[in-house]
Amino acid sequence: MTALWLVTGGCGFIGSHLCDALLADGQRVRVLDDLSTGRRDNLASGASLLTGDVGDPELLEEAMEGVAGCFHLAAIASVERGVREWRETHRVNLSSFIAVLDAARAAGGVPVVYASSAAVYGSNANLPLAESVATQPLSAYGADKLGCELHARVASVVHGVPTLGLRFFNVYGARQDPASPYSGVISIFADRLLRREPISIFGDGLQSRDFIHVSSVVAALRAAMGAASIAAPVFNVCSGHATTVLDLAATLSDACGVKPEIRHLPPRAGEVRHSLGDPRASQKELRLPSPLPLPTGLRDVVEWM
Ligand code: NAD
Repeated sequence: MTALWLVTGGCGFIGSHLCDALLADGQRVRVLDDLSTGRRDNLASGASLLTGDVGDPELLEEAMEGVAGCFHLAAIASVERGVREWRETHRVNLSSFIAVLDAARAAGGVPVVYASSAAVYGSNANLPLAESVATQPLSAYGADKLGCELHARVASVVHGVPTLGLRFFNVYGARQDPASPYSGVISIFADRLLRREPISIFGDGLQSRDFIHVSSVVAALRAAMGAASIAAPVFNVCSGHATTVLDLAATLSDACGVKPEIRHLPPRAGEVRHSLGDPRASQKELRLPSPLPLPTGLRDVVEWM
């Protein structure tokens, strides 16, 4: 059935892929974005755009009018900016989310699916990280994402707004800003390899991450909308595979058809050594397809570049 969906942050990396998928499926899409890190040319053709701040209550009232659900992806998605601009990132990443929930409540209980992050786990070493392990964020960004989960619970339990939070791990794919702290490394490596330039790796390159292709994230977002409830569930969105930076460089070199020249730089202070999610709960409860294998996803990035 065709419906109208609100996507906050729909001109950004993940949001624009979600809009493409919704429109390809015959759905209608309204985007709310201030174009701060998102780009107007990412806006899916056929989507309407409300330009402005996601914390603006009047704009949110207009944005929620007649929608079947809200995908909330707008955020300052940068741990580093959270260090420099603590109060402003808090305003956008948490206070504005409460404004979104309040608008959803006022519109009669519009379901809200929202982006949380693996950053809520901090340096918890109980790998793979299941949703049940202790959250111990180490950044303002992670603390605000955890705050989103807590306020989503309030929205659900106190105000009857169905919600579902998704803890994204390292999302990658076409349109990703190389400056992204998550998987920007993939765009940076691919760019260097295609220019036949050396790639730089911090430390020994054995640090690992759980990379998940944006198409798998879009599938999770869409499935999540059908599962949003007043139990306010929260799920990981991850592949369940640990990839070291050295493995990543090798797989990406294959995708580029280039032999890599690697330079090692001193390790970065404070970097989490290993991050790996447990995808079993989300795969079972949201009935997600198997995530796209890394070599296939990396070929997609290289083709886009
Ligand atoms: P992105 O920066 O590409 O997209 C964010 C979008 O939000 C942009 O279009 C930006 O213009 C918009 N935005 C920012 N502040 C706004 C404001 N005040 N008002 C209106 N719009 C605003 O980032 P992304 O990688 O697509 O991330 C999407 C969501 O997923 C974010 O909530 C992010 O925290 C979360 N997340 C991403 C990753 C990842 O690996 N990319 C991992 C974990 C969580």
